[in-house]
Amino acid sequence: MSVLQTLQERSNTSCELCGSKTGLKQYNIPPALNETVDTSILACETCFNQIEGNEDMDANHWRCLNDSMWSEHKAVQVMAWRMLQRLRKEGWPQDLLDMMYLDDETMAFAKETGEHKDDSEKIIHRDSNGVILEHGDSVVLIKDLKVKGSSMVAKQGTAVRNIRLDHENATYIEGKVDEQQIVIVTEYVKKL
Ligand SMILES: [Zn+2]
Repeated sequence: MSVLQTLQERSNTSCELCGSKTGLKQYNIPPALNETVDTSILACETCFNQIEGNEDMDANHWRCLNDSMWSEHKAVQVMAWRMLQRLRKEGWPQDLLDMMYLDDETMAFAKETGEHKDDSEKIIHRDSNGVILEHGDSVVLIKDLKVKGSSMVAKQGTAVRNIRLDHENATYIEGKVDEQQIVIVTEYVKKL
């Protein structure tokens, strides 16, 4: 049985966060690299878009977490916890968080994307001009860069699309140059 089929079965083909039956798809919880039932949930379009930041957060929609936070499935617990963290300034999500219990391993996974941190603690990536960089941004190199561990030089003026941020270190981003994934220091890029 595929991961998607397992998710459909365990959820009765409904959104594991809000129970909706429409626009369901598999959401792979970052930063997990492998799709497994422990790192994926079935989510409706509304939940999916707000999780991904494609739509503004509608705090009222997330009242559904009142129920889904008690799911027996760890992946659902992780997403409920992260969304409650994102909304905790509303008050009621903090009350739910106070009641929630995640085992150590699940909590470690839940914390990996830093939703629980205050803005001041979050690792913020900035380009050479101090402009904030986000996942998926495009940047241009402002000087020639030697690529570590190869003879390749990434030329000044090269555009790097769809960058990834290093969650541990604010001075590093990753992106593809000539089909090769490389690590780039933020002070040598400018956001496009
Ligand atoms: Zn939903």
